Amino acid sequence: MNIPFNVPYLTHKESEYIQQVLQSRKLAGIGVFTQKCQAFFEKHYGIQRALLTNSCTDALELCASLLDLKEGDEVIVPSYTFVSTASAFALRGAKIVFCDSRKDHPGMDEEQIEALITSRTRAIVPVHYAGVACNMEKILQLAKKHQLFVIEDASHAIDSFFTFSDGTKKALGSIGDLGTFSFHATKNISSGQGGLLAINNISFIERAEIMWQNGTNRASFLKGNVDKYSWQDLGSSYYPAEIIAAFLWAQLEKLEHIQQTRVKQWEYYSQELQALSVSLPYIPPYATNNGHIYYLLAPSLDTRDELIAQLAALGISSAFHYSPLHSSDYYRKKYDSSPLPQAERYGKQLLRLPLFVELSMEQQEFICASFKAICLRQAAQEIN
Ligand SMILES: *Cc1c(COP(=O)(O)O)cnc(C)c1O
Repeated sequence: MNIPFNVPYLTHKESEYIQQVLQSRKLAGIGVFTQKCQAFFEKHYGIQRALLTNSCTDALELCASLLDLKEGDEVIVPSYTFVSTASAFALRGAKIVFCDSRKDHPGMDEEQIEALITSRTRAIVPVHYAGVACNMEKILQLAKKHQLFVIEDASHAIDSFFTFSDGTKKALGSIGDLGTFSFHATKNISSGQGGLLAINNISFIERAEIMWQNGTNRASFLKGNVDKYSWQDLGSSYYPAEIIAAFLWAQLEKLEHIQQTRVKQWEYYSQELQALSVSLPYIPPYATNNGHIYYLLAPSLDTRDELIAQLAALGISSAFHYSPLHSSDYYRKKYDSSPLPQAERYGKQLLRLPLFVELSMEQQEFICASFKAICLRQAAQEIN
């Protein structure tokens, strides 16, 4: 058997919608499909204004621009995340202050945030790892107390939710002042590359629309509010071509099917892989599971790498990530704060199993059987 780690899902409506764009000859962005995709996020997830971007990285950079960061401003970011979460803010001159992960979950440890806040702190950037919510109630309280912005990196977190202690349930990405989503080929919903900026704090809407369209007031012009458009502010070409939006729309139409399938596969792993030497993912009571990543924690770096090698020998691709950012080649020399043991631990011990819509039951059974056998062999070697 040869089981890849990820196969991007195709609904087979993508080419039909792309064909419609080609026929319309309206190839540049902000056309019908862009509007449809943005309206989908606004309607389903209670986002005040959604703007499609070329990537989640783009959306994060747009957030950093909207904050008007000055040299010396600080932004609190988890160390255990993809590079873009930090680099987007570093690129705009911010000092990155890294926060450790929780012991029971790779998401940022909300109990450690307050000690990192200084008079220069401007924002907290929680990443909802594997689509599992950070403790947004606590993070919003801290932000309010210290007058900080909250930017959710929801790139894993489409269609996942946080429940507040009063019972209110909110979609991830709709809770902070700003939120960002990714439609990279490795995410649940994909357009190959793509992203979205969610604006929940309405005071950002007007300026975000200007920055999104090269720093011009083209949006006002198209609405008929001004008779010509011109350079108003800093900005860039953040919106995707209409072909990308057409592709994305086909995927959004199938969101329910994609999510249900992935969650079922996730739950199957959870059932099958109990009582082994690895620890299984924890979902806090306030969070939902959107089946983005199935991860396990091996007892050590060696056992993790051995698991990957032995799975590979059976034709099963598994993967690890992330190298903690505070100890990365780029940041190590600048990092002058305390060690982040949980981020290091996830970097060394976390392992991800194949999870994609077209993964068959037969393949999943084979993965689980193989995984169990390898774990048992490893445990037996430990004893000898
Ligand atoms: C995928 C990812 C990104 C970047 O998304 P792109 O759309 O590829 O720019 C940012 N943050 C996290 C946590 C991610 O997993």
